[in-house]
Amino acid sequence: MKFTLDCSLIFTKPLKGIDLKSLIKESAVILERGAPEGKGARIDRVKLKDNRLDLRITSGRYVRPHDAVFRLKNLLSEELGKRYRIGIRGIKAEKYRIEFDVEKEPKEDIALPFAKKIRFDGKRCILELHNLDEEFLGKNYTDRMINLINEKIEKQHYEGKEEHWELIWQSKQKEPVWNKDPSEEMEKRNWIMHRGRGQWIFGPTATKIIKTMEQIVVDELLKPLNVNEVIIPKAVTWDVWKKSGHAKNLYGEIYYLCPPKSRDPRLWEEVTDIYKITGEVPTDLVKERIKEPIGGMCYAQCPPFWPYLAGKTISDEDLPMKIFDRSGTSMRYESGGIHGIERVDEFHRIEFVWIGYPDQVKKLNKEIVEYYRKIFNKILDLEWRMAFVTPWFMAQEGLIGLADVKKEVGTIDFEAYLPYKGPRKESEWLEFQNASNNGDKYPKGFNVKSRGKEQLYSGCTGIGLERWLSAFIAQKGIDPENWPKEFRKRVGKLPKEIRFL
Ligand code: ATP
Ligand code: ZN
Ligand code: MG
Repeated sequence: MKFTLDCSLIFTKPLKGIDLKSLIKESAVILERGAPEGKGARIDRVKLKDNRLDLRITSGRYVRPHDAVFRLKNLLSEELGKRYRIGIRGIKAEKYRIEFDVEKEPKEDIALPFAKKIRFDGKRCILELHNLDEEFLGKNYTDRMINLINEKIEKQHYEGKEEHWELIWQSKQKEPVWNKDPSEEMEKRNWIMHRGRGQWIFGPTATKIIKTMEQIVVDELLKPLNVNEVIIPKAVTWDVWKKSGHAKNLYGEIYYLCPPKSRDPRLWEEVTDIYKITGEVPTDLVKERIKEPIGGMCYAQCPPFWPYLAGKTISDEDLPMKIFDRSGTSMRYESGGIHGIERVDEFHRIEFVWIGYPDQVKKLNKEIVEYYRKIFNKILDLEWRMAFVTPWFMAQEGLIGLADVKKEVGTIDFEAYLPYKGPRKESEWLEFQNASNNGDKYPKGFNVKSRGKEQLYSGCTGIGLERWLSAFIAQKGIDPENWPKEFRKRVGKLPKEIRFL
């Protein structure tokens, strides 16, 4: 690594008749502090003009110039303040050149905000930044940019493969009752009705089935494990997603949340007038009258729960802590991927979250999988499988090694065979839920502590009710006569189908 920073210190007064040379010589010691001998930062060039001191600071890996310049600033402001009552007004940097080796060669050009130039020579990267202010230098933006370049290259090498997928278990093959598209068939019978983009109304019959499924989750998973119900907000603000990590990558899938600039009717008069005259909502004018997004609609249920625990210490008696939420929908902008009720923009999900010491979390993950096994084999009688998946960013952050044979931290996807999509081997199965051991990600992100020495872990499982319904109808058909006995017993008599004339 090679860093070259051309920067200036701006003083409150011109430095006339002051022996700067010896002061700068003195600073050599502090620019080495913490580095192996001879490997700290160096001042290569000094030029004084009135109240401005231009410097070139260089370094290798240790004491990078953006740190060194603050060490120098502290030293000089102390000495000059004491001796001459001169202070330092600020730091500016005209140019910062950073040369470093990346882990892999990039496949395409990389662009980054703040970067004037990013050039590669094999694995050697030359990054050039211009006109930087004190905040930029002081807040470690440079190190984050270096990390981000490596992250972008890593992503190029993943080539659109969003996750690493590995089968861990598969049920017996089950003879499907039919091979029809469940959404289409339910739509024909008015069980469900499409409403705009990726949103559905569930009529009485479909609702009865979904509610029965929900009850199965309560009776066969949540009650046996003593999980308490909570109500979690569904409008999520940036502070939550910054701590949960979602602020790093969620933007293309969010339904944004924008409050009005004011509730004053005068602000809205033109909008209401136009609507009353034309019968159309003037959305362009609405857009002018709303604030920037303060966040978005619930994407995953657990992040907006964590502020409940943030900064707190949980007593050992309350661990593992187990809660679940089913208090509202999640929303995702799924764009082109929408299909029937299998991929929707507004969906219903139960999420169960557990928090504890690593062993407790691991044990619960295992127990949860066993309860699910019973539900899918004995009650819904599904053909399904489990796969261990590693999202690329987790692998890349080193959160999970792909070769981690223990597979303790990471996600299990539960997938169901959809006969209407074709043969088992070639067709895409439906992920109808997942169960994750999220490691220390959330307790760390939200600063949740325990009395014990070990770092807390957490896990969560998201049960997608639209997906359960799809998987079930896709395999078992629409006629209750063909449904497994255990499910029929629980669902009871279905409401009479609604017919429209
Ligand atoms: P997919 O790969 O199908 O997009 P995902 O990996 O984005 O799913 P997760 O973020 O793991 O899904 O969400 C957990 C669960 O939430 C899923 O297993 C599924 O049951 C449900 N879910 C997620 N997105 C949707 C959607 N668009 N429509 C219906 N259910 C969904
Ligand atoms: Zn979760
Ligand atoms: Mg998705």
